[in-house]
Amino acid sequence: MKTVNDINFENKKALIRVDFNVPLNENLEVTDDTRIRAAKPTIISILESGGSCILMSHLGRPKNRENEFSLRHIVDKATQVLGVQVNFVDDCIGEKVEDAVNNLEPGEILLLENLRYYDEEKQGNRDFAEKLSRLADYYVNDAFGTAHRAHASTAVIAEFFPENKCFGLLLASEVENLNRVLANGEPPITAIIGGAKVSSKITVIENILDKIDHLIIGGGMAFTFVKAQGGHVGSSLVEDDKLQVALDIMKEAERKNVKIHLPSDAVIADSFSNQANTGISPVGQIPDGWMGLDAGPETNAAFAEVISQSRTILWNGPVGVFEMDSFAQGTVKLGLAIADATEDGAFSLLGGGDSVAAVKKFQLDNKVSYVSTGGGAMLEMLEGKVLPGIDALLD
Ligand code: AMP
Repeated sequence: MKTVNDINFENKKALIRVDFNVPLNENLEVTDDTRIRAAKPTIISILESGGSCILMSHLGRPKNRENEFSLRHIVDKATQVLGVQVNFVDDCIGEKVEDAVNNLEPGEILLLENLRYYDEEKQGNRDFAEKLSRLADYYVNDAFGTAHRAHASTAVIAEFFPENKCFGLLLASEVENLNRVLANGEPPITAIIGGAKVSSKITVIENILDKIDHLIIGGGMAFTFVKAQGGHVGSSLVEDDKLQVALDIMKEAERKNVKIHLPSDAVIADSFSNQANTGISPVGQIPDGWMGLDAGPETNAAFAEVISQSRTILWNGPVGVFEMDSFAQGTVKLGLAIADATEDGAFSLLGGGDSVAAVKKFQLDNKVSYVSTGGGAMLEMLEGKVLPGIDALLD
């Protein structure tokens, strides 16, 4: 992988696809600057090697160039986070932008307007990509969050920089860390797959079975497996059309020598509410009218035991409805077990929107080895797919 560290940017202009798709509040202020901080090493590295940076990103899903989706709202926060004045131009192609780029001096940053103000961005339009490409000497992709999209700025544009394209440091480190699990993981390798539905994780599970030793299945999706084996799950979340899939996964795991760990007990509730009446029940004997919303104490101990013996750990998806305090303990205990194993030398990687939200909520994000910044992109890598944004930099 060629990265920005392999290029001398002296007096050169770098067009960097960043992921500045950050959340804004009703006053249009940035409420979480994680993605801006994640792009900082790449930007600073280019500025320090004597170049200038032209930043391009999307923000939200504009339909008609609505003001709320303008990247001008993030200029102050980006300036503060990067420690360098971020200049802004209210378009991303055309004469006005080319003028602003021509005036850009080494050490300076220019942020372009939302790429998705043009439908051509998502369409992967080649002309639009060519117009963007005119702005700079080098193309750098550092937007892991959109690397699974074949959009104009994330993939198509790379063809206009056959020699002068490279990975940003964030994108490179995402790929390296995922490969530390998928390609060169030290055994025993344990994957924890949780979340609401098995249907959204089937391809991930099928792909990783070849690479892991243990599979912990938690969260709502576990009840489809429990029911498929004849358990009584009350009103827990179940996908009845995936019962056979669950059985097939278990059979395939056995064939591949992967040990599957399902919850044995659950925190049950009489409604989907933080104030519900709760109890503990074996997962396969949940009374009618009750639902499993978190892993029970016996399960937490069993999962922690597997994790403590793992050298490589991949975590995607919470094992309970962690957003509600009454059902957060399973996810907290799992996070703590992973933190302990990491302290003892295991490599732990977690990703997927909800797991990241969970570890942040419980302040465990600094206690795992790596937190991936891309939900959909990470899932597609786990599914074994080639991401267009990465592929375009390699060929
Ligand atoms: P996903 O986006 O598929 O990773 O699912 C994450 C969501 O799964 C979170 O919002 C959790 O609240 C939810 N979840 C976890 N466990 C359960 C459960 N037992 N029943 C219903 N939802 C759950």
